[in-house]
Amino acid sequence: MSVTTNSPFARDAAFHLHPQTNLRLHEQIGPTVIRGGEGVHVVDVDGNRFIEGMSGLWCAALGFSNRRLADAAHRQLLALPYQQAFAHRVAEPVIDLTEALVERAPAGLTKVMLQSSGSEAVDTAIKLVWYYHEAIGKPEKRKIIGRARAYHGTTVASASLTGLPNMHRGFGIPLPGFLHVSCPHHYRQAQAGESEDAFAVRLARELEETILREGPDTVGAFFAEPVMGTGGVIVPPAGYFEKVQAVLRRHDVLMVADEVICGFGRTGHYWGCDAFGIRPDMLTCAKGLSSAYFPISALMVSEPIYQAIADQTDRLGGFGQGFTYGGHPVGAAVALETLRIYDEIDIVGRARRMGALLQEGLRRYADHPLVGEVRGIGMMAALEMVADKRTRAPYPAEMKVAARVSDALRARGVLLRALGDSLLCAPPLIIEEAELATVVDAVGEALDQVQ
Ligand code: PLP
Repeated sequence: MSVTTNSPFARDAAFHLHPQTNLRLHEQIGPTVIRGGEGVHVVDVDGNRFIEGMSGLWCAALGFSNRRLADAAHRQLLALPYQQAFAHRVAEPVIDLTEALVERAPAGLTKVMLQSSGSEAVDTAIKLVWYYHEAIGKPEKRKIIGRARAYHGTTVASASLTGLPNMHRGFGIPLPGFLHVSCPHHYRQAQAGESEDAFAVRLARELEETILREGPDTVGAFFAEPVMGTGGVIVPPAGYFEKVQAVLRRHDVLMVADEVICGFGRTGHYWGCDAFGIRPDMLTCAKGLSSAYFPISALMVSEPIYQAIADQTDRLGGFGQGFTYGGHPVGAAVALETLRIYDEIDIVGRARRMGALLQEGLRRYADHPLVGEVRGIGMMAALEMVADKRTRAPYPAEMKVAARVSDALRARGVLLRALGDSLLCAPPLIIEEAELATVVDAVGEALDQVQ
């Protein structure tokens, strides 16, 4: 794109402070300015079309031109653009959405609180863990356990729970009381010759030792994404969550499933919890909830948690948490329409069918000289680049191998995301077979180009 003073490029550099961006580099290379979307494609201001192989940030499950979702937003904007959900007020679509979510939720989750983002849902879950334990007379049960490489959000509390050092650096976090156990990545974390089962046993033991060391009376909850997304699409070893949940039950520690990425079919199951036999006490979701057509997230909680806090609200005061835009009627209307579309097009069956093709297609590159591991489940996958396939030694960071593969893909009209040594892929769930084949073939060509 040409750089003139009035160009979007120049104005973006002049006025826009981008999150999670190398700012000096951005001043030189500028933004890709996207103007439109059609199906799984986005189109930039110069007319270049890209397959959005990451669904934006794992969120645009129904692609970028769904008329029904736009109409649902428009109708609700005309009928009632805003209503709050504090203290005995609510808009009608919010009631419909909470009911629809409970109908679809993993067994036992019966109440829903709505917010605008995944981070807000996770923050709310953290505060609810504390408030619940206060309500049942165990106020010391405050510590929260997360895992290395997990991503749970960007606010101070959700970033404290996150296990990625770049989300902590410079902020003086994690806050006290946030602990992290190991990432369940067999390829990187298993000991030599350790089976998946033995690895899962060891990780469950590490969790139990952590709880015992801290004192079970001080540990409130364990948060986990069923499959870690931003951490690099880490699918846990078989039996991992079963063993972890046995530990949590023994020590009366709540299980909170962060389904912000996994929810609504991404793993080829409606919930990531379904894929791994997780019985959560609370669940957070966002992204696919509205297919990103409106910022909305939800925290779902179990009936016993609800009853315990309801019993105590006179004593403790109402749960001191809530956002102006939590329970926004337009978000609720869009999310409700999204859930209806998912049902009508059998989003889970579709994700499972296309996911099998994606996983099979990318595994063709497992023997490629650049590639150490191909991993994933359903419609989320990653390729990890290694300098030495035998020792699994990574490339020096400055070689930016995954980023170069991602650049080569972009030149072929496919947008994937490089994170560290890994290239991540999570296309819209509506992607067609031929489009998926284009993505998979382009990955092979890009790997060959960079090799
Ligand atoms: N939890 C998980 C598992 C996520 O992947 C994300 C975002 O990617 C979040 C929470 C935070 O969501 P948001 O960016 O909407 O605040």
